[in-house]
Amino acid sequence: MVKTKIAVCVCSGGIDSTVAAAIASQEDYETHLFHASYGQRAEKREKEAVEKIAAYLGAKELKFVELPFLKELGRSSLTDITREVPVAEKVNLVKQGETPSTWVPCRNLILLANASAYGEVISAEAIFLGFNAEEARSYPDNEKEFVRRYNLVLEKAVASYCQPPTVKAPLVDLLKPAIIKKGKEVEAPLHLTYSCYLGGKKHCGICESCLHRRRGFKEAGVEDPTDYIQE
Ligand SMILES: [Zn+2]
Repeated sequence: MVKTKIAVCVCSGGIDSTVAAAIASQEDYETHLFHASYGQRAEKREKEAVEKIAAYLGAKELKFVELPFLKELGRSSLTDITREVPVAEKVNLVKQGETPSTWVPCRNLILLANASAYGEVISAEAIFLGFNAEEARSYPDNEKEFVRRYNLVLEKAVASYCQPPTVKAPLVDLLKPAIIKKGKEVEAPLHLTYSCYLGGKKHCGICESCLHRRRGFKEAGVEDPTDYIQE
């Protein structure tokens, strides 16, 4: 059956964006996965994961964009290898009012702007994202209010004869365990996802992202398919 609705699914290769893409697929959108390389440590692993996820979901297309400017800017420990990514007990040491070292300046806004341009060209009705309540605790560009305001901007950001796509964040109110349960429900390929900030072949098990992943599976009561270095 030919699908009439088109969605761009911004996908990092992690759990959240993969579940969001699986939801788009279940809602009968023709999915076009979109992945950005911005010099993140995990670039290679994320790209490998997204390729597998796109194939699993039967995506119509997989679009990659290179955004080296974000690495050039530095500052983030995800792109600047001279900075340390906090692991284990150091993860929760960020003080009130302090920017976490893993913050990448305006990353989601920049990613979304690129995904929106792609969406305009392919006449997408929607742009699916994995924004969620877990990430919103650390990063303001995961909040519902960010999505609402961005959708307003988008109305004026596409050509006047175009219907702008709507940004959808179906996980925006959910924490990791609920996202994983939702993932099982929509048959998302959780076993193909990659979350580790460090970018090693195996998940480190102790960076912030790995800690969320582990806890998420545990609290969801779902078997964790991940092979962690640090048990
Ligand atoms: Zn890790």
